Amino acid sequence: MKILIANISLLPSTESLFDSHDPYTNTRHSSTWDIGIAGDVIEFVRPHTTVPMGAGGRERTPGSEAGEYDKVILGDGRLALPGLVNAHTHLGMTLLRGYGDDLPLMQWLEEKIWPIEAELSADDVYWASLLAIGEMFKAGVTTCGDMYFHMDATAKAIAESGMRASLSRGLQDIGGSGKQGLQEAAALCRNWHNSCRGRVTVMLGPHAPYTCSPEFLRQTFDKAQRLGIPLHIHVAETETEIQEAADNYKTTPLGLLEELGVLDGPVTAAHAVYFSPDDIQLALERDVRIIHCPGSNMKLGSGIAPLPDMLEAGLKIGLGTDSAASNNTLNLWEEMRLSSLIHKAENRNAKVVPAETSLTMATKGGADALHLNKVGKILPGWAADLILVDNKGLHWQPTSDLEASVVYAGGAQDVNLTMAAGRVVYEGGRLTTIDEDRLVYQVQKCAQRLGLC
Ligand SMILES: [Zn+2]
Repeated sequence: MKILIANISLLPSTESLFDSHDPYTNTRHSSTWDIGIAGDVIEFVRPHTTVPMGAGGRERTPGSEAGEYDKVILGDGRLALPGLVNAHTHLGMTLLRGYGDDLPLMQWLEEKIWPIEAELSADDVYWASLLAIGEMFKAGVTTCGDMYFHMDATAKAIAESGMRASLSRGLQDIGGSGKQGLQEAAALCRNWHNSCRGRVTVMLGPHAPYTCSPEFLRQTFDKAQRLGIPLHIHVAETETEIQEAADNYKTTPLGLLEELGVLDGPVTAAHAVYFSPDDIQLALERDVRIIHCPGSNMKLGSGIAPLPDMLEAGLKIGLGTDSAASNNTLNLWEEMRLSSLIHKAENRNAKVVPAETSLTMATKGGADALHLNKVGKILPGWAADLILVDNKGLHWQPTSDLEASVVYAGGAQDVNLTMAAGRVVYEGGRLTTIDEDRLVYQVQKCAQRLGLC
């Protein structure tokens, strides 16, 4: 399918990558652009051009009415951004939104989350995943990194909806479930890795150093090596985890992964709240990708990650909401804003984590964290994952710095078109691949059966 998105604005940093001469008149163009989509890839970005259609004074975009495109989207000057990447979440937990609020991580997990998770069926996880995907599409998220169980159900929701995703079967060996989990993870890889024309990829997901024994971590690493896929793991999320690693292994959680040889392969570490300077150096040497989840870390009272130090060291960092049970939304705009604001306050320094950095983390940084290539930028040859944002609202006016306005003034409510892998999945206030009424009905049914509402 060929789509033309005509007459949109771009961020100055994106505009600077392109020749701004009008291809038809060779004069410098005005201020808007056209984007051509072929299949699931961006074909071109070029200055917006119109030609008169004769009587009536109407204008048209060259090529747009010659049957060259299957669909022409009139941007009307709206801002096009790369689709946002929610690099760390647990879609199946979306049914648990609002269940067990205001508790610290371990009490939250042990008393609320783990008991109710034992009740979740594959059907619950399917509808929870679809609920999460619908919420994310409306907020302009086109890619997610997920870790949970009943992952076939999540993969089915991802495949049907059109979202790009990196999926991991969450693994732990406390309670003796490690072997079965590993088998399911291998099956997930066989069935879904690089499926849907590469839109779905798979990682192996050992939950955390505190829920996996060293032997099991080593086993998951060996399995990942054989399957040729990276690991996605929670690391250094709480002070308790740091203390336990020091008591049990005389090192940090990341240091333990290094000692076990796990960092010999590609690893994505979610949270990194308690990374020491040595951990940051180790992560840099081993190219460990980081996912910063400020909303979840704040809500669970876990702490504030040393993001400015990690950025300064040059680590590749994306953003994640974590689950809807610890956030409680999957709104990456909030994570962008939080990741700039909390570190300014924490460091008493307004210059740290500027808006442009948060925006990069929310897009290309997230794709890097998930080991995805050519995702997260509006460039020819890159994935056709993009959103149109209405930046004409009063809260955008006046706009002196567009990137700062996106991060500090914009929000999910300003997204009015979402395209994932070349497919329009949200437009004009409605989801195009998800039946929203049926979704809400099914979600309520699941929640009632589980006694959640
Ligand atoms: Zn998580």
